[in-house]
Amino acid sequence: MANCAIVGINWGDEGKGRMVDLLTENFDVVVRYQGGGNAGHTVINEYGKFALHLLPSGIFRKGVVNVLGNGVALDPENLWREMREVARQGVELSPETLKLSDRTSLLLPWHRDLDELEEKRLAEKKYGSTKQGIAPFYSDKYQKKTILAGELLYPQELRQHLADIMEWKNLILTKVYGAPAYTMEQLEKWMETYCEPLKSYLCDTGEFLRGAQEAGKNILFEAQLGSLRDLDYGIYPYTTSSNTTAAYAPIGSGLPSARIQEVIGVVKAYSTCVGEGPFVCEMFGEEAEALRKAGAEYGAKTGRPRRVGPIDLVATRYGIEVQAATRLALTKLDVLSYLEKIPVCSRYSFEGEETGRFPFPTRLKDAAPVLEYREGWNCDISSARRWEDLPRAAREYVLFLEQELGCPISYVSVGPERESIILR
Ligand code: GDP
Repeated sequence: MANCAIVGINWGDEGKGRMVDLLTENFDVVVRYQGGGNAGHTVINEYGKFALHLLPSGIFRKGVVNVLGNGVALDPENLWREMREVARQGVELSPETLKLSDRTSLLLPWHRDLDELEEKRLAEKKYGSTKQGIAPFYSDKYQKKTILAGELLYPQELRQHLADIMEWKNLILTKVYGAPAYTMEQLEKWMETYCEPLKSYLCDTGEFLRGAQEAGKNILFEAQLGSLRDLDYGIYPYTTSSNTTAAYAPIGSGLPSARIQEVIGVVKAYSTCVGEGPFVCEMFGEEAEALRKAGAEYGAKTGRPRRVGPIDLVATRYGIEVQAATRLALTKLDVLSYLEKIPVCSRYSFEGEETGRFPFPTRLKDAAPVLEYREGWNCDISSARRWEDLPRAAREYVLFLEQELGCPISYVSVGPERESIILR
């Protein structure tokens, strides 16, 4: 495989982590290029079960170099905690296998406070933030009011820069929200505890990636969340604050010259959505509870019950287009095994007609799902490893989706473990 991006096609939580973990076998480098610790990739392998928030999913493979690119929200506190946690479970980490871009902006302690304070102020109108400070972080990055990780290597200049930002930030904290101000002593302690240990992992990752590219290495770009959470193309304002699309990978990774030959879009066999915002195909009541239970749909980061629904072909087609996906991985097909009939949202009823077009975000609330039902298979498929092992109805469901979505489904996942996968 040449360069490849693995991206989410829906609202996130599609199972990207398990796909990256599986495919890293074919890659030399894995790069995270956007987002922060606000979502969790669940990976189950020989080391155990992990909810990765910031670390690239390639850290479990020997010989793979993992990179956090400049587009990521580098939260030193969370990253250092996560690094210690995986090391405790036997995963080796070193500056040779993990490289942090010196051009990545730092998520500072007040970003989390501001996230929390703003959600509290919004009360009923809240966005459903995970309160990890991501929105305040990206706002500050684009206002040029945060610190680049590489500045940690220049303590004298850093101190003045941080003091200047703190002065401005304290005005907002105290005058807008009535919250306590930060002091330099607090920040110095924070840097000592969480930033110092990261310093040896910092480098010019752009230079490293260019070298890898020139040496013909295969690079895997790992995204967080999904198309519908993309800042520019998603369900704004219920999006995340970065670009979750493959097109952002060259910029956010530190390798603007990257050519990405394959975009593998991860699609779940049904829909889930965490937090607020329009979710046209949403199911309620007992039907929803049964699906939530079957798929264990509770947030990896927050433990919040996820909203659930049938697969939404309208949103999924839109998600594929936005990602320019070349192939799909269909995950969690095994979860649907309990259903006699499988509901599918094939079109939206919108403005008096049925449509396959994904509406403008403001109008999504006026769309209703048009459902059709496909035949279920009603038996356990989690041990299937070849296409022929799947019951006829399951194969027909996959073929139906492939035709409707207009993109080849190359992987069918039937369980969370690395080997629970069918390659087509
Ligand atoms: P990500 O952020 O896209 O990596 O997704 P999450 O980790 O939040 O959610 C995916 C969840 O589904 C994790 O708990 C995975 O272990 C699990 N999972 C992934 N693929 C499958 C599958 O095919 N079947 C089942 N039953 N679980 C899966």
